[in-house]
Amino acid sequence: MNLNILTDDQLAQLSQLISDAQTIVITCHTNADGDAIGSSLGWREYLCSLGKEPVVIVPDQYPDFLQWLPNTEKIIRYDKHKEKADMLLKIADLVFCLDYNTLSRTADMQASLEASHAKKVLIDHHLNPDVDSVLTVSQPEACSTSELVFRIVWQLGAFEGLGKHFAIPVYCGMMTDTGGFTYNSCASEIYFIISELLTKGIDKDRIYRNVYNNYSENRLRLTGYVMLEKLVVDTARHASYYALTRQDLRRFHFVKGDAEGLVNMPLQMKGHKLSISLREDTEKENLIWVSLRSVDDFPCNKMAAEFFNGGGHLNAAGGRLNCSVDEAVRIAQHAILHYESQLK
Ligand code: 5GP
Ligand code: MN
Repeated sequence: MNLNILTDDQLAQLSQLISDAQTIVITCHTNADGDAIGSSLGWREYLCSLGKEPVVIVPDQYPDFLQWLPNTEKIIRYDKHKEKADMLLKIADLVFCLDYNTLSRTADMQASLEASHAKKVLIDHHLNPDVDSVLTVSQPEACSTSELVFRIVWQLGAFEGLGKHFAIPVYCGMMTDTGGFTYNSCASEIYFIISELLTKGIDKDRIYRNVYNNYSENRLRLTGYVMLEKLVVDTARHASYYALTRQDLRRFHFVKGDAEGLVNMPLQMKGHKLSISLREDTEKENLIWVSLRSVDDFPCNKMAAEFFNGGGHLNAAGGRLNCSVDEAVRIAQHAILHYESQLK
C-alpha cells in the first residue's frame, strides 16, 4: 500500500533538517488530546532512534487518561516550567509543530514560539495551516496527526527499527481522534497502519480500556447528570446543547478530562445531527469552552468559526466564548437556528 505523503524533495529536506539540528523541540496544542500527545511521543521516539534528544513541550495540563502512555514523564509542561521551556525554545534550532495549524493554538507558549529563531516544521491535519514553517505537512484528510507521523516514518523507511514506544502513542492518537474508529475513519489505509502497528506487539484492547474505561465515579455521575438534567434537545432540528456551569463542575469535583467525550453522547439519539457542549472555565471569568460534534455532512468547523471563535474538522470542532453562560446558551441557540436548513 502506498502511504507516501511527502515528495522526494520534502523527504530529503526533512532528513537534512533533522540531521543538522542540535536541539529539537516538539510542540502541540493547548489542552492536548490523545492525538496531540500521541503524535508528539511517536515523533519523539523516531527522533530518539536517530540518536537525537528531542524535548516534547506541551502548553498546559493534559488529561489523566493519557498519563499511562510511555515517556509522558519526559514531557515538559510550559505552564509549570516556563523558564526551562523558554530557554529550550530559545536555543532550539528545529521545532516541530504537531496537531495544530496556527500558533494561537499554543496558548501562553505562542510568544515564545514566535520569538524562537528555530526552523519550524508543521505536521498537522487541520485546515488552513498558518505557521511560518520551512516545511509544511498539512493533510486535512488524514484521520489524525498520529497517522501522518506513521506515514512519514514509514516513508522514511524507519518503521521497522521502531518498537512499542512508537506504536502505542501512534495507535492511541489515531484511536482518540476517531472516537475509537467510529468517525472519520473509513480510509482503508488506517486499517493497514493498524495492522502494522499490531506487529509491534501492542495490546490495542488495553489501550482502548486505558483511555475510555478510566473514568472516576464523579465523571460517570456527571454524565448521568448532564444527560438527565442539562441536555436541551431541539427535536425538530436534530440538534442539542448543554451548558455546564462552574457550580455544576464543582458539584462533581471536575478535573480536566472529565468532560471528554460527553459531547458525543447526544449523537446516539436516532437522527441526531449536531451536539454542542458549553463549559464554563473553572478559573477564568467569562470564558466558555465550546465543543461541537456532528454526523454526516454537517460542518461543525464552519459553525465553530462563525459563532464560537474556533474551528476544527467537519464532524468535530471547538472554540471559546468570552461571555456568561447565559449568553453562550443564547449564541448556541442562535447558531442552531442559523444552520436550521442543514439540520433538517
Ligand atoms: P474538542 O471539542 O475536542 O476540544 O475539539 C474538537 C476538534 O476541534 C479538535 O480536533 C480540535 O483540534 C479542534 N479545535 C478545538 N478548538 C479549536 C479552535 O479554537 N480552533 C481550531 N482551528 N480548531 C479547534
Ligand atoms: Mn488531531
